[in-house]
Amino acid sequence: TRGVAEADPAVFAGMTHELDREQNQIELIASENIVSRAVLQAQGSVFTNKYAEGYPGKRYYQGCAPSDEVETLAIERAKQLFGCGFANVQPHSGAQANGAVMLALTKPGDTILGMSLDAGGHLTHGARAALSGKWFNAVQYGVRPDDHLIDFDQVERLAKEHKPTLIIAGGSAYPRHIDFARFRAIADEVGALFMVDMAHFAGIVAAGLHPTPFGHAHIVTTTTHKTLRGPRGGMVLTDDEGIAKKINSAVFPGLQGGPLMHVVAAKAVAFGEALQPSFKSYIAAVLENAKALASRLKERGADLVAGGTDTHLALVDLRPLGVTGRDADEALERAGITCNKNGIPFDPLPPVKTSGIRVGSPAGTTRGFGVAEFRDIGDMIADVLDGLRAKGETGDPAVEKAVNDRVRALCARFPIYPEA
Ligand code: PLP
Repeated sequence: TRGVAEADPAVFAGMTHELDREQNQIELIASENIVSRAVLQAQGSVFTNKYAEGYPGKRYYQGCAPSDEVETLAIERAKQLFGCGFANVQPHSGAQANGAVMLALTKPGDTILGMSLDAGGHLTHGARAALSGKWFNAVQYGVRPDDHLIDFDQVERLAKEHKPTLIIAGGSAYPRHIDFARFRAIADEVGALFMVDMAHFAGIVAAGLHPTPFGHAHIVTTTTHKTLRGPRGGMVLTDDEGIAKKINSAVFPGLQGGPLMHVVAAKAVAFGEALQPSFKSYIAAVLENAKALASRLKERGADLVAGGTDTHLALVDLRPLGVTGRDADEALERAGITCNKNGIPFDPLPPVKTSGIRVGSPAGTTRGFGVAEFRDIGDMIADVLDGLRAKGETGDPAVEKAVNDRVRALCARFPIYPEA
């Protein structure tokens, strides 16, 4: 059988470009990571051929014994990682995991209460453009203007006024710890179920270096590809047996057909890695590195939303530097540093421009960068942004070229997939 290089040179060219990009750019997108060879191999395995509708021991097709083996490993490892009683590892993505919770525990037209996109929430938490915002009466809370922390007075007021069925905590651009106990108390007061979407910080919870939502949330969802460093995918966890049954029916046959067994196998491998002591040191470094990068950017004149970070990500307010998020992320990409523009709370600019960028440490830490390297990256970013301010939106080509040389030299010192 021919490999992809021979069978399809056009697609192989794209794959080669992506490998080169990952090897030679500094990846700061907070929701991304660099998986191990073992995870890649499991995801590229023959399990992609298999239909395994149902759950281990209760499948609809024959030939599912190997699928049962890997799915059971994924489930048991997930439960062990988070110290919980139930895991459904089949959601194809984080959005699917959240959709399954809504299908299981709410009805269209119900009221849900989640964090707004502007404040750092996710589309699936009730944003107007998403299914969660169209099929539900979605009420949204935000952060306080002065310290950018969750406005619990507002959460409580909205909960009492609107009596939601489901309250959601968690987000994509919130850099601080979340007070899960306070959310649960509000949920109990109004008879709501409380869900935590820990997609971003799941790896930190798994390592025991972030407060756990278990013991507070009725239900927890996550992606598996961010700090958890697994394949792209989702997962739903709970300690409540009644909710667990409903979740299984909601994922299949409610929302999905056959699970992606190759992804489930890769999830099992990633969870096995996250159970090793080395994962805890990795996450400790992720946290230290995010702080180092954020504080260097602050020293170089940027503002930090919420004053800093407790996690793997920082939201950087670029207004003191006089550049927009869009110009910044484009200039940084030209210099070989990948991040994303991001609205800041109460952003005066529209989402296509924004006043901020979001940066994260998970991928860089995986390739071995430490505090010194992340401080250096902070300087590289600030140099590019200074060039942008001096020369306008086209940026300063000489500065961007000089930074790109530094980026390439740093990446060469910390190679990834060297055997590819
Ligand atoms: N939930 C949160 C908090 C996220 O940040 C994301 C993705 O960024 C998702 C859910 C959705 O995950 P996916 O892109 O896998 O659907």
